[in-house]
Amino acid sequence: MAKFTCYVCNKPVVTGQKFTFTKSGAVHYHCFISEKSKNVDEQNSGKLSVLSQLLDSELQHLLNILNIKDAPEELKELINRKYKDIEKAVVETTNAINSL
Ligand SMILES: [Zn+2]
Repeated sequence: MAKFTCYVCNKPVVTGQKFTFTKSGAVHYHCFISEKSKNVDEQNSGKLSVLSQLLDSELQHLLNILNIKDAPEELKELINRKYKDIEKAVVETTNAINSL
């Protein structure tokens, strides 16, 4: 995996961690949410709470798929497609959080 640095904490983002990408670059899940919660107004904080739970579970889902070892060759395409589907969900949720 390419090397990325989190734009909030300036530490490396490594495989096995929960992270996402925004226009600013790679960011850890917890850094993203804590940074956002500082800037979100009262009326959106409930939405941030729900969206951050969604993003957390989507990122966990991605990690779980990455952890599948020794998948039979004939399942690799299916697994890859599932991974891409969840990646799309992560992008969608990240954008929703960003727009709060
Ligand atoms: Zn970070």
